[in-house]
Amino acid sequence: MIQNKPLYTVVLGSGVAGLAAAIRMAAAGSQVTVFEKSDTYGGKLGVWQKKGFRFDTGPSLFTMPEYVMELLLIDGKKDVHFDYDQLNTICKYFWNDDTQLIAYNDREKLKSEFIEKLNESADNIDAFLDDSRQKYEITNPVFLEKSLHKWSTYMSWTTFKSFLKMGQVGVFHSMHQQNSKRFNNPKVVQFFDRYATYNGSNPYDAPATLNVIPHYEFGIGAFFPKKGMRSIVDALYQKALNLGVDFKFNTPVNQLQKRDNKYGINHDAKSYDIAICNIDVATASSGPLSHLIKNHQKYTPSSSALIFYWGINRIFENLDLHNIFFSSDYKKEFDSIFKNHSIDDDPTVYIQISCKFKKNDAPPNKENWFVMVNAPYVKNQDWEMLITNTRRHIISKISKILKVNLEKHIELEHILTPQLIWDKTGSYKGALYGSSSNNRISAFLRQPNFSKHHKGLYFCGGSVHPGGGIPLCLLSAKTSTDIIKRDFKIC
Ligand SMILES: Cc1cc2nc3c(=O)[nH]c(=O)nc-3n(C[C@H](O)[C@H](O)[C@H](O)COP(=O)(O)OP(=O)(O)OC[C@H]3O[C@@H](n4cnc5c(N)ncnc54)[C@H](O)[C@@H]3O)c2cc1C
Repeated sequence: MIQNKPLYTVVLGSGVAGLAAAIRMAAAGSQVTVFEKSDTYGGKLGVWQKKGFRFDTGPSLFTMPEYVMELLLIDGKKDVHFDYDQLNTICKYFWNDDTQLIAYNDREKLKSEFIEKLNESADNIDAFLDDSRQKYEITNPVFLEKSLHKWSTYMSWTTFKSFLKMGQVGVFHSMHQQNSKRFNNPKVVQFFDRYATYNGSNPYDAPATLNVIPHYEFGIGAFFPKKGMRSIVDALYQKALNLGVDFKFNTPVNQLQKRDNKYGINHDAKSYDIAICNIDVATASSGPLSHLIKNHQKYTPSSSALIFYWGINRIFENLDLHNIFFSSDYKKEFDSIFKNHSIDDDPTVYIQISCKFKKNDAPPNKENWFVMVNAPYVKNQDWEMLITNTRRHIISKISKILKVNLEKHIELEHILTPQLIWDKTGSYKGALYGSSSNNRISAFLRQPNFSKHHKGLYFCGGSVHPGGGIPLCLLSAKTSTDIIKRDFKIC
């Protein structure tokens, strides 16, 4: 409920964070308009379909569903249906030497896999996962759920307690250094190092604080929406409509105009009290907000991705919803991405097959493969050459491990490159998760959720605090709108 008079809010962009911000403001009584340059909502949570195959084109792993449910139930009405399941098998792992491991949700089964397949002790796995949970408990209330750029955050008892425990979160070592000390088998080190990629980081540089990430999967759980990843934004869009949010599609914001203490979009006469920018902040600061953001936020981007969407003309019984095919030399692979800005000849390949879960995503006896490798952000690469080579390397690697001629089974192909991610969503240089988290102060360097110079201007999304990935984007929208409610005395 707004005190005094109605407030008008404009949201720039309808990515998952923009939708969340719109819902929160509308539920608080504001009249909300969303401007979106594309013809649909959802940003990176896109969809592509052809010849009976359906692909979620962006995120494929769903964690922290309660953040979505909180939005759908924000006004106490169950008026939007959204359903998801928890995964018992989180992911299947394959190595080039035929080693395989299944990551189960059940801790005892998971430990048995590590003991039997990789000869790693149950105690080591327990110690790591307990430490990951502890890191979560220390960092979540302060570093993720609040603004790091407001003094009030530092004045609370919760923050004080978290700071007292900072020594335990591993800011002074890299993930790889900490994991190498914890485990005996290098494959287990590689297994847990991989979680750096969940926010586009390099485990050889990123602080061991990021060893918090496995807790999201193994402590809280991995989930999958019954109707696929796109249904997350379908549900949020429907909720926003139900709350009266007005969407203007195919309407790029070329300039956010400041009009006294209000904001206007392009040359449209309507003015708004509050503007929430969901456009990547580096893109916005050199485009529609260039006159409002003084120092252009040209951050160092996180990694990007090269994705092949393949229609496969047979069933692979041995594969699950999520599958990882590891490289033999992880350090070399990350050096290729982060130092040489290229893709290694033996990349780690992630294959998500949503029809294992949602049968009608592929025609009968066929499968829809989302095949992704980590890739550098855009930096004058010869992408045609990189795509051709990487495609060949992936096919050769998967063919050897699965003992098939994979090329023969690909009947449909669509490709998403870092440049296309940049073009389609405005993500600076194709970064999947905004700015890189490869050093220990990066959390403090992210764009704050509010403008320090312009009253009424706020930010949310993957390039803003606390970071990228669906759960953090939803938290960024919550933090921004909590600040708005305080600034505008909305109860
Ligand atoms: C291939 C891929 C895989 C990923 N995997 C995962 C995963 O498994 N799990 C996970 O949690 N996260 C994953 N992520 C990250 C996650 O998708 C993002 O962090 C999140 O979706 C970003 O949401 P956002 O709201 O910040 O912005 P975006 O989704 O980037 O949306 C920004 C919106 O702004 C619009 N826009 C841009 N410029 C303008 C303009 N001038 N005027 C109007 N509108 C404009 C864009 O069209 C877009 O709709 C993945 C991302 C990609 C690309």
